[in-house]
Amino acid sequence: MKKHVHQWKRWSRTDEEVAYRCSECKAERTRPTTAREKAAIKRHWRRFDRQNKAMHRVYHDFTRRFLVKDGDGNYSVWKWTGYELMERVDKWAKKHPKDVITCGIDDTHHACSDLVFILHRVKRRLWGTSCVVLTQCDGIPPKEYFMYPGHRAGIQEALAKMATYGPMGL
Ligand SMILES: [Zn+2]
Repeated sequence: MKKHVHQWKRWSRTDEEVAYRCSECKAERTRPTTAREKAAIKRHWRRFDRQNKAMHRVYHDFTRRFLVKDGDGNYSVWKWTGYELMERVDKWAKKHPKDVITCGIDDTHHACSDLVFILHRVKRRLWGTSCVVLTQCDGIPPKEYFMYPGHRAGIQEALAKMATYGPMGL
């Protein structure tokens, strides 16, 4: 390592200590966290918790309403399936017009089914979207997936391509 003046950059901060690391040689040094910093950390996490709760509020409501906990304490068992579930979710979605979007698809039995999008909104942006595929007659439990904005952009692009399909001329 070349002789140099350490370039200390803050590396991590906990309630106990603040760590610095030299961006040249990766040497580390720490000092105890000050009372002022501790207060700032507390404020940060309080804000984070509040935002987190708000952001996942509607999805948590969905989970508690339509699923029950399994033996491990995870919400993984659906209370209803098929048409009955679709009807209930539809009613619930109408109560959350800003956070829930639904549209129709067909399942493998060509029976009307639903796609449900539950937005995880923060103050100025959409953090992500929980998606649920509710099929009516194929006997498969609802399937969930998640979209970050990048995923949504990819799907949007795919749909845009579909809209400009080339006819086969058959
Ligand atoms: Zn250094």
